[in-house]
Amino acid sequence: MRFYLTTAIDYVNSRPHLGTAYEKITADVIARYKRLAGFETHLLMGNDEHSQNVYKRALERGMDPLAYCDQMEQEFRSVWKQLDISFDDFIRTTQPRHRTAVQKLAQKAHDKGDIYEGFYEGWYCVSCEAFKQEKDLVDGKCPLHPTLTPEWIKEKNYFFRLSKYRDRLLAHFAEHPEFLEPDVRRNEILKLLEAGLEDISVSRAGQLWGIPLPFAPENVIYVWFDALICYAAGVGYGTDDALFNKWWPADLHIIGKDITRFHTVVWPAMLMSAELPLPQQVYGHGWVNFGGQRMSKSLGTSLDPSDVAAKFGPDPLRLYLVKEISYGGDGDFTWERFEERYNVDLANNFGNLVSRLAAMAEKYRQCRLTPAGSGGRLAEIAGATVKRYRAAMDRLALHEGAAAAFQIIDAANDYIAEQAPWKLAKDAASASRLDEVLFNVAEAIRIAATLLTPVMPSSCAEILRRVGASGELRLDRDATWRADGARDIVKGAALWPRSEDKVDEKPIGGAGEAAAPGATQAVGAGATPAEDNRISIDDFMKVELRVAKVLEAEPVPKSKKLMKLKIDVGTEQRTIVAGIAEAYQAEQLVGRTIAIVFNLKPAKLMGIESNGMVLAASVGDGKPVLVSFEQEVPPGARVR
Ligand SMILES: [Zn+2]
Repeated sequence: MRFYLTTAIDYVNSRPHLGTAYEKITADVIARYKRLAGFETHLLMGNDEHSQNVYKRALERGMDPLAYCDQMEQEFRSVWKQLDISFDDFIRTTQPRHRTAVQKLAQKAHDKGDIYEGFYEGWYCVSCEAFKQEKDLVDGKCPLHPTLTPEWIKEKNYFFRLSKYRDRLLAHFAEHPEFLEPDVRRNEILKLLEAGLEDISVSRAGQLWGIPLPFAPENVIYVWFDALICYAAGVGYGTDDALFNKWWPADLHIIGKDITRFHTVVWPAMLMSAELPLPQQVYGHGWVNFGGQRMSKSLGTSLDPSDVAAKFGPDPLRLYLVKEISYGGDGDFTWERFEERYNVDLANNFGNLVSRLAAMAEKYRQCRLTPAGSGGRLAEIAGATVKRYRAAMDRLALHEGAAAAFQIIDAANDYIAEQAPWKLAKDAASASRLDEVLFNVAEAIRIAATLLTPVMPSSCAEILRRVGASGELRLDRDATWRADGARDIVKGAALWPRSEDKVDEKPIGGAGEAAAPGATQAVGAGATPAEDNRISIDDFMKVELRVAKVLEAEPVPKSKKLMKLKIDVGTEQRTIVAGIAEAYQAEQLVGRTIAIVFNLKPAKLMGIESNGMVLAASVGDGKPVLVSFEQEVPPGARVR
């Protein structure tokens, strides 16, 4: 069983942003999952260097283009390393192996009569490095680059007979509906094929930066025709037949949805012309927006993934991108949402579970857990979850796979609350029951960490070590519930200390920054486990507390306690009735900043509809003392 997958290769005119990182992270999750499932796996990534924009950027900096590309390669590699991307090979289009492959394929297509000399006249978007038809433009501009004016180009070029392959492409799509996923992308491409294909220009005249056409060396090969061939060049096309025969055709090309046409129309036609088999599948993922806007260096809506990884480590970012975005669709990154998920999924849930087990194992069993019982309902839940996880991961529903693994974690937390090991520990007659409960929790953690290994490789390796399960993982063997011998539980520092940062605070950045700053462990490992009536952070987050400003205040007639307030909550003004009239005069309240429960269902008090509840401490004889803030905060700010 082998599995060859690739990502798109990147232009090197700027550092990777979060959108670029998203693609590599998800491809890495797939590669790691395949390895876990027992496939011999090969993940190819790389850089696309023969771009005119790269050439221009190098010259602007007074650098030799190749030296510039060498420098960018190091930058890309260091970001991928920081994000724990486990690529097996990294191709650059300036490498000799790539040049050999490109010239071989171009020569084959030429020999077949599929490349001919012609004359091109039309629009060209320099930023896309793509020819554009009139119908592709919006108000005369490239829709992806609305700030640029496309160039009208008129030059003698070589053309590839793309039109010749339209029928074969349509037939391939009909026979292999899995060739392009998700469905929405396939429908777009089918429409395009049905409308008919035009031949495409595959060379640029008068340029120096690129690979010369073997049969007309005064022309360099158009950057897209060049770049696509990297997938074959990376496994030895034209340079190593044995390697090529082992890995080609690719099982999966992971690409952004904006370049599906190149990958599912142009690329397969090139392969047909060169008489090579087509890749099994092309998957067009969506975009990650940043605060609702398309990630773009030129639009200033860019986020450097290194900043996130430097502050939190790579795994929380990997988990966020995989679990919070439905794979194939678009998603959004905001610091607020990221920190919320970090606290909910990692600090308070998975991390806390691992700490609690270690604390109880130490306190009650000197860190050594012995198997007892069959696992019961927790084992059943784990078994069903593993099935769901595998089915989801096999069809690239990565978000469902990650969510499934968290269901085991939730079940283990519920199980602890139900079984109350701290009560069992008080009764000698319950000793074997306590053994069973602790062992079952350790086993649930082991399985969850196994399933999450592709998403959070280094954290899960550490968790597995702490539950006494090190060694190379195999899904078939290691995702099965087992009771095979004692487990030595290892205590350690909090894996994901709670993030105490304010929502809007940007990270300080810089690769040298320590992991998470000044954070304390949430529910401490050594704490007495007596959490029967505690609520989860999810429950707490349902209560929306906000800052409000009192605009008007008047006592409610015929009531001793009630005060009617008109308040500003940032987004609107509302009326709220509060039982504070015995402690505060109306004039003391106007202009004051208070805290309220914002999302309480309205209630009628003395015939007045109250929208929300004012927060106040109740002291001594029940006299309310309003919550106030240490410094001025604007109405509408969230309190938590
Ligand atoms: Zn463009």
